[in-house]
Amino acid sequence: MKATVAHQNLLIELQKYDTTIISCGVRLANLPEIEQIKAIHKRLEDAVIELKVVETELEDVSIDLRRSEVDVEAVVDRMKKDEARLNSGAASPKELEQTQHELATLAKRKAELEDGELEIMMRFDLVKKRLDELASDEVGLKQLELELNVRLENSKSEINSELESAKASRAALVPQIETSLFDLYEKVRSSANGIGAALLIGNKCDGCHLEINAIERERIKGLDAEEVLRCEECRRILVRI
Ligand SMILES: [Zn+2]
Repeated sequence: MKATVAHQNLLIELQKYDTTIISCGVRLANLPEIEQIKAIHKRLEDAVIELKVVETELEDVSIDLRRSEVDVEAVVDRMKKDEARLNSGAASPKELEQTQHELATLAKRKAELEDGELEIMMRFDLVKKRLDELASDEVGLKQLELELNVRLENSKSEINSELESAKASRAALVPQIETSLFDLYEKVRSSANGIGAALLIGNKCDGCHLEINAIERERIKGLDAEEVLRCEECRRILVRI
């Protein structure tokens, strides 16, 4: 196939736009913010699950605490009644002895209940602290998510504008290239990782970076500048500088 040198050179220009278009697509799909936002969503989901568990735990501990307070109050009431009876002077010696014995038992019970209550209060504080931590984590994560979304949108719009500009330049360039040369370029490009044309730089093909062998080099030297070359290794269109 033959094509003017000018048309062959246009292929290299076209290739630059196509390479930019591919690179924009890769960059859009691999923006680091996409994974970072996914990770934040996962952490927020986990936090919601833990929050439910901790809230239930807080309710349970609150119930335990109220129950313990009621128990202590009941013992205190009973002790007050016993003390009133002791102080009334109306009890018989046997009753006095029984009441004193009961008061000692109640005092022991009250101390036990109060120890238990202290433990429950400590548990309550721990659960409450975890709840506060989760709430503050959620605020922090949501803030980070907002910031990442802004960064993601900025990066996207930057790449999209580069992409649109490359597409527009490509569309303007295509009609300037000979149809058969362009068709060959498209055919090669579709089977060679998006690179249809490459420069011949020194003895190397800039598409596959392999050296052209001596025999082929000699053959090329003897060819007309309008002869369309193909790399023997990668089959891409080779454009002489
Ligand atoms: Zn090659």
